[in-house]
Amino acid sequence: MYGSGIWNGMKVTIRHFVNTYLEDIKWGWNRGFTEESFLEQQSLDTRGIFTVEYPEVKLAKPERFRFIPFLVTEPKDHEDDARKGKQWCTACGICAKVCPPQCIWIVRCKDPDTGKPMTEPEQFYIDIDVCMNCGLCAEYCPFDSIKMDHHYELASYDRTTAHIFDIKKLSKEFSYWQEIAPNRAAAEAEARGGWEHKDVLKERERAARSAAKAADSDDDGGEAKGGRAARGQRGARGARGKAQAEAPETPSGDE
Ligand code: SF4
Ligand code: SF4
Repeated sequence: MYGSGIWNGMKVTIRHFVNTYLEDIKWGWNRGFTEESFLEQQSLDTRGIFTVEYPEVKLAKPERFRFIPFLVTEPKDHEDDARKGKQWCTACGICAKVCPPQCIWIVRCKDPDTGKPMTEPEQFYIDIDVCMNCGLCAEYCPFDSIKMDHHYELASYDRTTAHIFDIKKLSKEFSYWQEIAPNRAAAEAEARGGWEHKDVLKERERAARSAAKAADSDDDGGEAKGGRAARGQRGARGARGKAQAEAPETPSGDE
């Protein structure tokens, strides 16, 4: 019938219009902002409008969302003074090697006395205009020191120096990673054997091993001493027995 196409099109529009309000009411006008509603909005079961009025409205970010990488640091109020604000990065350079567009540049710290390279970065640069957010650096890092961030609003009027992120701009405390990716952080900690940096865990393990070894050698020493003493007593008894056997009989006063 003439005009039925227009009516069918209008029906679709009206359905989306009504469903949008129904979904808004269902999620308490909070649609897309909670993880649960966001997941439904991203699924095939979504109904109504699924665009948002960015930047006034921002969708929830799933845990696996990834943008520019950041570097993990110890908290500034760490109980161990030596680790206060310390970088987890050991400047091994693996992330720079695997980065497909080669946008990572690392400068290693040098020992001021010997001039030898240290396991710490003095500088760490990422050209965020070149980074393609692939996440390979984070996948390959053997120390869980580089992670993909959720922060994506990086636009600026300067596209030269403002887009080369240095170590200061890239560094974020470990608690930030726990906050944006609690499940992944927990899984990594489990694989590492604790919440701390690998080096700290290794050091603790080494100290525990040496303490156990020292305790073992103390026990062995005690046992050895005990063994020697027992052997000594046995020897003395044996010697006494032998001497008694060999000694001429003491004549008795009656004879
Ligand atoms: S791979 Fe990890 S530890 Fe090695 S340089 Fe990169 S961020 Fe640092
Ligand atoms: S996310 Fe990919 S492109 Fe970006 S720095 Fe890491 S490895 Fe390089």
